Amino acid sequence: MPPRTAVFFHAHPDDEALLTAGTMAMLASEGHRVVLVVATAGERGLAEMRPGEALGETRMKELYESAAVLGCARVECLGYGDSGLSPQGGVADERPDNAFIDADTEKAAQALAAILEEEDADLLSIYDPAGGYGHPDHVQVHRVGRRAAEIAGTEIVLEATVNRDPLVKLLKMAGRVYRFPPEFDVRTFESAYSPSEAITHRVNVRRFARQKRAAMAAHVSQASGGESDRTLAVMLKVPSPVYRLVFGTEWFVRRDLPPGTRLDHPLDRWPK
Ligand SMILES: [Zn+2]
Repeated sequence: MPPRTAVFFHAHPDDEALLTAGTMAMLASEGHRVVLVVATAGERGLAEMRPGEALGETRMKELYESAAVLGCARVECLGYGDSGLSPQGGVADERPDNAFIDADTEKAAQALAAILEEEDADLLSIYDPAGGYGHPDHVQVHRVGRRAAEIAGTEIVLEATVNRDPLVKLLKMAGRVYRFPPEFDVRTFESAYSPSEAITHRVNVRRFARQKRAAMAAHVSQASGGESDRTLAVMLKVPSPVYRLVFGTEWFVRRDLPPGTRLDHPLDRWPK
């Protein structure tokens, strides 16, 4: 396969480590150009110790470290404000003026499309319409990413997701022997991410577990403290069988392929 360019669009630093790190490391190792774009610097993440602005800087440094481990050729931040989460998990009342959730979809899409065009990208990775576990910034990544791919004419659009069926099953099993933190509700995963039958790509990333772990470890500011409003914090609290499940496979939905398609490489079934 000739070298292609894949752009991975994420909401906050650390989302790449959890959802697509193995796939990114795999593509880079195969000689493809891998570009990482985040919408925000994640300045409303955990780490209560630091004031907002400093946290954004820290998290961008962590993102560069993660990107280096994964073999990314370029890292960009669109510069929107992290919208944060309300205590109930919805849209936060108090948010910055330039919050990503309040951004004009068309304008944001144009900014991402400019990168896709500059890179002559063959593939764009975004999120499923539910934004995975429902963070408003993640839902916005789906909307903005879809539109950006339309503008730039990017042929392959993959929605990074998690196969929720085995995840829910494992979490329920784990719940019998493991005491989840009080704010961790297994039921929220029953409608999160994607059901098995919707998934078109199952990418085996076991060979890149070391890079994926290192990418997660790079986001040190997100690994402890604060409320569990981040996927990484939630995931670091789940027991090891779930952890291994999350590490070994990465899942994507490509909506222009017929239902029931089962592919194992993100660039498979390249359009004619
Ligand atoms: Zn996020």
